[in-house]
Amino acid sequence: MLLAYVCGMCRWKVSFDCFSRTCFLNSTRFLFPSKRRQVLTRHLHLSCIYTSGEKSVNSSKKPVLHPKITILGGGFGGLYTALFLSRYPWTRLTRPKITLVDRSERFVFLPMLYELAFGQLDKWQVAPTFSQLLQGTDIDFVLGQVEKVDVQGSTCEIFSTKHGHKVLQHDRLVIAIGTEPSLSSVPGADKYTLPFRTLEHAELLKQKLANLTKIRRQQGREPIIFVIGGSYSGVELASNVAEYFQGKAKVYIVDRGSRLLDAASDHNRNIALQTLRSWNVETLLGMEVSCVTEDAVLLKSVEEPFQEPQKKFDVDLVLWTAGFKPSSWLSFVELEKDSTGRILTSSTLQANGHEDIFVLGDAAAVTDVNGQKCKATAQVAIQQAQCAAWNIWASLCNKKPIPFRYEHLGELMTLGKYNGTAEVFGIPLSGTSAQVTRRLAYLYRMPTHLHRWKVGQNWVLKPVGCLFDNFSFPL
Ligand SMILES: Cc1cc2nc3c(=O)[nH]c(=O)nc-3n(C[C@H](O)[C@H](O)[C@H](O)COP(=O)(O)OP(=O)(O)OC[C@H]3O[C@@H](n4cnc5c(N)ncnc54)[C@H](O)[C@@H]3O)c2cc1C
Repeated sequence: MLLAYVCGMCRWKVSFDCFSRTCFLNSTRFLFPSKRRQVLTRHLHLSCIYTSGEKSVNSSKKPVLHPKITILGGGFGGLYTALFLSRYPWTRLTRPKITLVDRSERFVFLPMLYELAFGQLDKWQVAPTFSQLLQGTDIDFVLGQVEKVDVQGSTCEIFSTKHGHKVLQHDRLVIAIGTEPSLSSVPGADKYTLPFRTLEHAELLKQKLANLTKIRRQQGREPIIFVIGGSYSGVELASNVAEYFQGKAKVYIVDRGSRLLDAASDHNRNIALQTLRSWNVETLLGMEVSCVTEDAVLLKSVEEPFQEPQKKFDVDLVLWTAGFKPSSWLSFVELEKDSTGRILTSSTLQANGHEDIFVLGDAAAVTDVNGQKCKATAQVAIQQAQCAAWNIWASLCNKKPIPFRYEHLGELMTLGKYNGTAEVFGIPLSGTSAQVTRRLAYLYRMPTHLHRWKVGQNWVLKPVGCLFDNFSFPL
């Protein structure tokens, strides 16, 4: 962790100082394996381009003066791109006007949505407002729903309840609007299931869990909770729900596949399955949901979908983590997309055929320079934000863009308040040590120093404060 932190800090500190970067790399020759050094060297190359004024792509072209950069979506992709861009040492003439647009007034650190739903952390820590995060930067924030992108006219249409319709003109556009739950394939899913993707979903889940606790006390029966989808979110939710009820609820997890956490590392899968077993969570594999009603879920086998009868389960709460798709309005934007509706980009994160449009995060279908297809994770989105910010600067200053190269740092999962599993830089961890590592890694990944400082301080001081609250002198 410490090494990662030092390395990350150094990456930023010296990104504009080629000489100290060279010294840093030389002095750490034995600390970093060759792959890691390769990545660091790429950043060295970047800093060299920046400071030494590498030859322009087309020397007859002049840098764009006072460019307008519009960033759609203030999640991991969009917000981090805006912050990276704002920290570049622009000159007076090239300094851009950066506008960040989001339909919500809060950035949500999605990997910690569990902590919010299960009452382990407060809203301000997991979902700080954009106005707080952007304090002291020159980024303009526009609260509103993006409704249209005119690719040819270089404009976006935003609608906000406060200001009505607004048209934003841009020289460079960043699309990072993530995805939304795809509930239309299962009858009743949009009405009777609760997805787990936004701040509102987490707050609603918190309320529902409190109601189910009341029901359990009043009626003396175990609540029945269904989690649909056996990937990371599904497993993390199922184990946290089971822990919340301390085993006094019947929790099911359903997946179409033949095993849970198919994409996870063996270590994380084994630890997660052990946890689910320890809470008696029932796993239903090779099954898919055919219908959801107010108080029941119907399942059918994936192998024999037409076989009757389907299995019916009574339920109190159905949680949906199974499928996500890009927003439907994106289908009207004239950009090339893959079969799932994600926008296809080159390895430099520019939309195919449009050098002024950058797409990243979950809404983008990116294949990196090594030919690996990028997954929909925050880790990918943050690394892409770093690359996109650089390439936006390069495109404005008439320099060569760099291709995106994904570097997998590890996998972290929560399995309860003090329980987790992790594999970081190949080191397997489980239980409390994994959960502590996860929290520290997320603290390090917080968008701004100030927010990181506030949250970190709270995590240290709150337990100390509680100790003193419960302490009384034996007089
Ligand atoms: C519960 C949960 C846990 C996760 N855990 C992890 C994890 O542990 N590790 C990991 O690497 N990844 C994790 N992920 C995945 C990760 O959060 C996403 O891959 C990442 O957030 C993608 O970033 P993004 O910028 O593409 O989209 P998002 O972060 O989703 O941001 C999209 C933004 O666009 C805004 N927006 C969308 N549509 C519009 C519109 N029409 N107008 C205006 N604004 C709009 C949204 O309000 C949002 O702020 C998790 C995801 C979830 C849901």
